[in-house]
Amino acid sequence: TLSGRRAIVTGSTSGIGHGVAVALAAAGADVVLNSFTDTEDDHKQAADLAAQYGVSVTYIKADMSKPEECRALIEKAGGCDILVNNAGIQHVAKIEDFPVEKWNAIIAINMSSAFHTTAAALPGMYDKGWGRIINIASAHGLRASPYKGAYVAAKHGVVGFTKVTALEAAGKGVTANAICPGYVLTPLVEAQIPDQMKTHDMDRETVIREVMLDRQPSKEFATTEEIGGTALFLCTDAAKQITGTTISVDGGWTAM
Ligand code: NAD
Repeated sequence: TLSGRRAIVTGSTSGIGHGVAVALAAAGADVVLNSFTDTEDDHKQAADLAAQYGVSVTYIKADMSKPEECRALIEKAGGCDILVNNAGIQHVAKIEDFPVEKWNAIIAINMSSAFHTTAAALPGMYDKGWGRIINIASAHGLRASPYKGAYVAAKHGVVGFTKVTALEAAGKGVTANAICPGYVLTPLVEAQIPDQMKTHDMDRETVIREVMLDRQPSKEFATTEEIGGTALFLCTDAAKQITGTTISVDGGWTAM
């Protein structure tokens, strides 16, 4: 059980971040939800999660593209025992055409935010002699695809930074690992299915198998619950010596 532990999950109002937040709350952790908005719904999500699992859940707004807001998130939360760096965005374009502001935003949100939150969270973890840092990287932290220059660079960067974090934290009760999902059925991905069906004139099953999961040998999406379960495992005692590594949840993609 994670009772008495506080987890901060960045970008946790939807998709994988939400799945991880639910898994940690269900295991008894107090949770801090985060995104860059500050809506009624954001706070309602926190209240609902708290009521469902009988843990403390708060929502703290912080824009992960801004270094000082990354660090302020950790401070406002009062530090954390479990830090999940999950916030991320995507943009697809040829290198020659890749908009500079998109490049900068992806590097900031998908990579540099993990540096800032980790820097702010580590001293408190060292004081307690316990901590778990879980970076949500991607199969694109280990493999490349054309037109995803910024995303692939940022995710490879996160995998490298995870290893450095693990080395510096070794022997202090603090582990750092990266989860590398293949395609996960998040609302974002679900929303692309109807368009792809039209474009390719295929039914739902065929477009998923042949277009979307072209590189995922299992021909099945991973789920946000499965990523949550993987993150939860990294918080258990069984995972104490797992540090500085990547865990692929990709249906075999990176075995190829
Ligand atoms: P999503 O769009 O459903 O969720 C992204 C979350 O990040 C949202 O809560 C959003 O509000 C938040 N966010 C975006 N910009 C932010 C900012 N500037 N500051 C704070 N929060 C911000 O996407 P997802 O599919 O759940 O992706 C989550 C993470 O998992 C990302 O890092 C993504 O790269 C990674 N990932 C996703 C897949 C996939 O197939 N869905 C695969 C591999 C890795």
